[in-house]
Amino acid sequence: MTRTPLATSLDAYEVWFVTGSQSLYGEETLRQVADQSRQVAAGLDGLPVKVVWKPVLIEPDGIRRLALDANARDDVIGIVAWMHTFSPAKMWIAGLDALQKPLLHLHTQANIELPWADIDFDFMNLNQAAHGDREFGYIQTRLGVARKTVVGHVSDPAVRRQVEDWQRAAAGWAASRSLRLARFGDNMRYVAVTEGDKTEAELRFGVQVNTWGVNELADAVAAVDAADVDDLVAEYLETYDVVPELQRDGDRHPSLRDGAAIELGLRSFLEDGGFGAFTTSFEDLGALTQLPGLAVQRLMAEGYGFGAEGDWKTAILVRIANVMGAGLPGGASLMEDYTYDLVAGDEKILGAHMLEVAPSLTTARPRLEIHPLGIGGKDDPVRLVFTADPGPALVVAMSDMRDRFRLVANVVQNVDAPDLPRLPVGRAVWKPQPDFATSAACWLTAGAAHHTVMTTAVGLDVFRDFAEIAKTELLVIDEGTTVRDFQREIRWNQAYYRLAQGL
Ligand code: MN
Repeated sequence: MTRTPLATSLDAYEVWFVTGSQSLYGEETLRQVADQSRQVAAGLDGLPVKVVWKPVLIEPDGIRRLALDANARDDVIGIVAWMHTFSPAKMWIAGLDALQKPLLHLHTQANIELPWADIDFDFMNLNQAAHGDREFGYIQTRLGVARKTVVGHVSDPAVRRQVEDWQRAAAGWAASRSLRLARFGDNMRYVAVTEGDKTEAELRFGVQVNTWGVNELADAVAAVDAADVDDLVAEYLETYDVVPELQRDGDRHPSLRDGAAIELGLRSFLEDGGFGAFTTSFEDLGALTQLPGLAVQRLMAEGYGFGAEGDWKTAILVRIANVMGAGLPGGASLMEDYTYDLVAGDEKILGAHMLEVAPSLTTARPRLEIHPLGIGGKDDPVRLVFTADPGPALVVAMSDMRDRFRLVANVVQNVDAPDLPRLPVGRAVWKPQPDFATSAACWLTAGAAHHTVMTTAVGLDVFRDFAEIAKTELLVIDEGTTVRDFQREIRWNQAYYRLAQGL
């Protein structure tokens, strides 16, 4: 069997830079269009995803062919389009209709200042994105093409940042389209929000969600080589502050070896199957000796998606957030709103899970500990204990609303936590925007889940772009949110998303 280590990087991806024009202008002008559009494309050098300039498009067949070529390439994750001159937009109908890749409409210009003293009509004819792009905007809207529109000169850092956000969202989309997700066991008994339509998820997000008996995982764990366990234990001892009872001479060291075997078995199962995300269930551990904690924490930090209690929807979000944040400080993790500090005016949310919070949320050195777990009926699990770094973060949840998936995002601020000497799990403490009461009321009104992905690597703008690409509802709770407007938006969305699906 071929092992496929998981890639969580933007390096293999590219986006194509496409310039629209027409043959009317003649050879000399088209040569200038090509030269200047090359320079504009080069102005986007240094972004996380390589921008590749394509020859100027001047007629319908060439435009359609480019769309089909882009569709056929897994490494091409999007198209940036700019109409330097006037490109009559009926030329674009077949191409835009065929295009299956994310589209960014860059409304820009080669020059910044106008040469007021020298301007003549040749200059006007060459630099007419001001109306060429409006013609292009019309046809995109007329055809209902999902896209991001970015306005400004490429030398403007705000323009570069918006293009980068879109690139990251497009990479998340590419990762989603190719994601294989392994569920070990089913959904936690009686839980509603972690259920969902897996067939619809494959159609909507491209994710293959399938289930394996947990004892297939247990078999992979049993097949692990003792020498590999030795090596991984050595890595743990070097990487973490390991409590004395788990050290080589400690009386609970065998539990650490069990944890290492679970990590190795899980990794081999995931790599053998080409999986980028997985779920577990504490109600269904089969022959596993412990609920996987340490292993899950480390795999999430490496880029895997994960959801507990069979929650495959959150596992998708963790994987996508890991890809979208590739190369940035911070990380993405399963998170659960656990309990509140309700001191008036200073309300905080303490988030955690039984075990499974990714150490990519901290820059500190986690402690590796062992404690009893009251549920599951297995041996005490090993786990990493830490607090997420203070700083900006985003929590995003996915609910299945029966006729569609709904994403809900809350912009939050992770804050310093007091010492929590008796709380033996990875956790984060945050204040939600715009304030605790508004955030929680909106979250509950939206029917948003208690499981989320928390990302400290990418912000709201990237998730907005992702939702646009995925044509999926996104409700945002941020500094400008009020409960009344949020309720109205939900009602309008209810109508909009049903109509948008067709009657
Ligand atoms: Mn949970």
